[in-house]
Amino acid sequence: MSKHIKDLITLAQHIGARPDYTQGGGGNVSMKDAAAMLVKASGLRLSELTDASHFVTIDHKAVRDWHDEVILETPLPELIAAGDSAINATILASGGGRPSIETGFHALLGETVLHTHSVYANILMCAHEGEALMRTLFPEAAFIPYNTPGVALTLAIKAAGATEGSDIIFLENHGLIIVAPTPDEAQRKHEEVNEKLRLYFALTDSYPTLAIASNETGWESNSVALKNRIMGNPETLFTFKDTILFPDQVVYGDAISYEPTAPDKITIDPVTGSITYACSEKEALAIEETLAAWLYIHDTVTEKGLTLKTLAAAEGVFIANLDSEKYRKSIL
Ligand SMILES: [Zn+2]
Repeated sequence: MSKHIKDLITLAQHIGARPDYTQGGGGNVSMKDAAAMLVKASGLRLSELTDASHFVTIDHKAVRDWHDEVILETPLPELIAAGDSAINATILASGGGRPSIETGFHALLGETVLHTHSVYANILMCAHEGEALMRTLFPEAAFIPYNTPGVALTLAIKAAGATEGSDIIFLENHGLIIVAPTPDEAQRKHEEVNEKLRLYFALTDSYPTLAIASNETGWESNSVALKNRIMGNPETLFTFKDTILFPDQVVYGDAISYEPTAPDKITIDPVTGSITYACSEKEALAIEETLAAWLYIHDTVTEKGLTLKTLAAAEGVFIANLDSEKYRKSIL
């Protein structure tokens, strides 16, 4: 298995360099043979995967057995707790990190699994019209209705039969999964799906370049595109907290203020378009990428005449309180 780590790292680096494909510590990769699975450690950026210690080795057959035997009627909080401890019990080796929150579906799918929060897939997945459009554009793909990340999502993928040979799986209000025999093949297929979406929506402008710079209180956005977008229509971002498009929005975008006189972790000045971040560099970058992805999906869905599909506020609160998501934030 160790000889394949290089290929998996190459895939992670390629995808992790693209803020239109993953934001912050979102997205993950895995690879398995008959004996074991390597999966990204939770909370790391894909671009941070550079050696074997950044992966967790899992007994994927034991993960699959647990999902086969679990009592589906178990209330969700208990199911999540049971799933977390069951997956921890299948760890064969770890460089110290926890396995990705999505280890369950990685274990149940094929040899190489690539999961991204592609903004192009999420134009479809965050629109009411998206499922029907997806079925026309990708008739071979599976569609999974929204479920809380982790065990609930894994069981939904299993219930839809997508663990039996689906190689393109769209996740409502969440993202995309590609299953392939090799990391190379996964990268190629992921690019093919995204290119098809960019062509369909005629997205010819390049994705905004994102950058942060240090200032006297922490970090600030150094992205001209983001600043111009905020100044052009500042009202959009006022709806950020109540327009939950995907789970990581809650994880990375929780504390936001629009008044420079009352700064919070994220302070957006609607007049100057400036965004300041009172947190670590890693967290600031994760927030910047999440804000940009949210704006891109929001604006494109609206411009293309589609209707935004959002998550309920209660789901946002539920995600924010998940132990696994608190852990991801704690290592920012
Ligand atoms: Zn995800």
